[in-house]
Amino acid sequence: MRPDPRISPVYIGSEIYRASTYGPKHPLAIPRVSSCTDLIRAMGWLDPAVYLDAPMADIAQLQRFHTPDYLQALQAAERDLAVSEETRQRYRIGADSNPVYPEVFRRPATSAGGVMLATSLVADGGVVHCPGGGTHHGRPDRASGFCYLNDPVLGILKWRDHGLDRIVYLDIDAHHGDGVQDAFHDDNSVLTISIHEAGRWPNTGHAHDRAGGMARNFPVPRGFNDSEMRHLLHHAIRPLIKNFAPQAILLQSGADSLEEDPLAKLSLSNNAYWEVISAIRPLAPRLVVVGGGGYNPYTVARCWAGIWATLNDIEIADRTTPAAETVLRSLVYNRAAGRNPPEHWFTTLRDAPREGPVRAEIERLAELSRDEVSA
Ligand SMILES: [Zn+2]
Repeated sequence: MRPDPRISPVYIGSEIYRASTYGPKHPLAIPRVSSCTDLIRAMGWLDPAVYLDAPMADIAQLQRFHTPDYLQALQAAERDLAVSEETRQRYRIGADSNPVYPEVFRRPATSAGGVMLATSLVADGGVVHCPGGGTHHGRPDRASGFCYLNDPVLGILKWRDHGLDRIVYLDIDAHHGDGVQDAFHDDNSVLTISIHEAGRWPNTGHAHDRAGGMARNFPVPRGFNDSEMRHLLHHAIRPLIKNFAPQAILLQSGADSLEEDPLAKLSLSNNAYWEVISAIRPLAPRLVVVGGGGYNPYTVARCWAGIWATLNDIEIADRTTPAAETVLRSLVYNRAAGRNPPEHWFTTLRDAPREGPVRAEIERLAELSRDEVSA
């Protein structure tokens, strides 16, 4: 029997992530979904009755957003473990840090299947966590920014197919959720909101960019702290969402906005992520939380495990269980910070809060969005 996400949050994982990497030198050389799953199990937080394996989406399902020729090229890349120059140029597979790797079709198709299952499961309400999802840069006909398929778009389209017409997509990854914003550019039923580091790739999502009316963007400066996230949350994000009165929210919780992430320069602690979850959860009867970026295996696993705890109203203890500590100590991280990881990455899940001054530019971003609400 399928678990009912209205009774208790459902967790969608997959073993496909455990042994799959984008290659030893790639930021996605690290395990993320499998370590999050292992960690919540080791904390005693995962009732097997609420765990579901993500099914792999089939070609017909993926064609709801992606072009047949691109999907064919992606399948061929997995079969041949190589691409022609034409495929590289046209579809950006094997280019721009989108490597050809052994699961280059099956892995993103499983993420897509997981998010589509998640949004279907909550058709009548409830909460699902699917940390394998979140590939927000994927384009209909090409790979972009480590993303081959766009699982948030496919999940939201599932909601549209179920007849929902007031959907919020909220993205707190350090990078702008460009693929999702552009996919719903002309769709008044999907409000896309993105908080991301200003001046970082893909360099879109400026404060005045509303994508035809239904997008709101918060490009934040380096060092963006917990107090600043709280300010945006209560003076911009929550009012925007409340005003829109959504039937469903999809939250992309890319963990690269954390202080210790190697790819971005924002300074959040994981408390800020969990605070966002608690603040937006009451705003819609359906909530799906997906993953996204995040390139430090310790901080990603701790952040996403804490999201699952928050969704389940589980008090996060000060110390990890011995089993959870073993999971964290077994992770391998081949960057400088991985050579001498601080002890608290193993023995705690909760970061020390990173409060700080709320800078004038953050206040301005909030004010700008307020003007837009009343306009
Ligand atoms: Zn990112």
